Amino acid sequence: MTETPPKSHGRLTISPSMKPRDLMAEPPRVKNAWRAKIITLFPEAFPGVLDMSLTGKALDHGLWALEAIDLRTFGEGRHRNVDDTPAGGGAGMVLRADVVARAMDHARQGTPVDRARWPVIYLSPRGKKFDQEMARRFAQCDGLTLLCGRFEGVDERLLEEYAVEEVSLGDFVLTGGEIAAQALIDATVRLIPRVLGNQASTEEESFSAGLLEFPQYTKPAVWMGRAIPDVLLSGNHANVARWRTGMAERLTKERRPDLWRAYCAAHGRDPDEDREL
Ligand code: SAH
Repeated sequence: MTETPPKSHGRLTISPSMKPRDLMAEPPRVKNAWRAKIITLFPEAFPGVLDMSLTGKALDHGLWALEAIDLRTFGEGRHRNVDDTPAGGGAGMVLRADVVARAMDHARQGTPVDRARWPVIYLSPRGKKFDQEMARRFAQCDGLTLLCGRFEGVDERLLEEYAVEEVSLGDFVLTGGEIAAQALIDATVRLIPRVLGNQASTEEESFSAGLLEFPQYTKPAVWMGRAIPDVLLSGNHANVARWRTGMAERLTKERRPDLWRAYCAAHGRDPDEDREL
């Protein structure tokens, strides 16, 4: 048998470079791991893609946790009905306030009352548009509850009574909130320390500095007659950094005038200036 170094017995991952002292200083993150509670008619849709790659590994390691709550179990009568026809007529069905309320009360158990620590969210096309800033806010919380709608949505009174925050993925209509919930969780969870192996990558990528990300390249050096820009192969880190900032600024200016104006305002720059890039 070959000698292998002893493995960690806990659920915390360790990097081989860590000294024992560093490990002791690590907070017991697993114990107070970020949590998502999801109220849905399709609990089997979770963790879904969140179980894959870096978010999946972090889930395995207990860096975050997920609880899918089956709305159906809170339904009415023998058939566990959760919806009914819209008051005032019209197409489709609406999720009942009393049924969703029972699921909300169940989800509330063991969570902080303070919404700053534990947001309660309804995924909805009417909501505030989800963005990186919101993801950062959610990542700072202890966790959150997500209500996934279906059909025509949820009885308005439920949203009022529970002071639910509405969040939209964008100006389009999905059939249900599940995909939106997974997108929100993915964007949030990857900001939790140690979920991404390389923390620096979240600082450089799109939106973090208010700019879109610069173009990325990898091998081969020439592909279909297209070469990687020389500067990236020069080994001159200062020049690489300058090139990347220049490209990020140019792309943002071209594609997202709204972001560009905000960036210029924050950096005391003239949005109409023309810099040689
Ligand atoms: N009748 C509603 C749409 C219902 S779509 C309306 O016009 O506003 C069904 C469910 O899908 C919604 O309850 C919501 O939970 C989810 N959903 C649809 N589009 C969404 C979006 N852009 N962002 C987040 N959730 C969305």
